[in-house]
Amino acid sequence: MRCPYCNSTDSRVTDSRPDIGDAVIKRRRICNECGARFITVERIQMRDLVVRKKDGTTEPFERDKLYHSIKLACRKRDIKDEQIEKLVASIQRRLETETTDDTVSSSMIGQMVSDSLLNLDPIAFIRFVSVYRNFSKVADFKKIIAQIPEEEDNAIVCKLPKTSLF
Ligand SMILES: [Zn+2]
Repeated sequence: MRCPYCNSTDSRVTDSRPDIGDAVIKRRRICNECGARFITVERIQMRDLVVRKKDGTTEPFERDKLYHSIKLACRKRDIKDEQIEKLVASIQRRLETETTDDTVSSSMIGQMVSDSLLNLDPIAFIRFVSVYRNFSKVADFKKIIAQIPEEEDNAIVCKLPKTSLF
């Protein structure tokens, strides 16, 4: 820590104490160079992630936005809010640990969400991917459905009524 008076980085801590209910630690320091006394404050800072979109523009990462896009994909499926919360939390943790410069790509987020949804519910997976990748033709759906593992696909077919889908 640089001394605010003489710019020396040679200082020592004389006292450390927690503050604001342990959310902050204040350290009293003495500059070994000029003897000035100053205080440094250490607090937890959640990382501010930035999302880089395909067109190169960036926007702040918004947890709520991610939550709502997943929630929408899971609509009327047998998935609890709690499960969605957990999913969002785990994705956010992964994003925070897998980036070193606080920037994540939107395709990285999309991939993480679709991987998680595929395990959770294949229908929610298809919905999410179709919105995220801007599906415009039936062929887009066919392609993505072909990628779903066979057993899960069969499980869905069995749940559907045989004569009519609605
Ligand atoms: Zn100093």
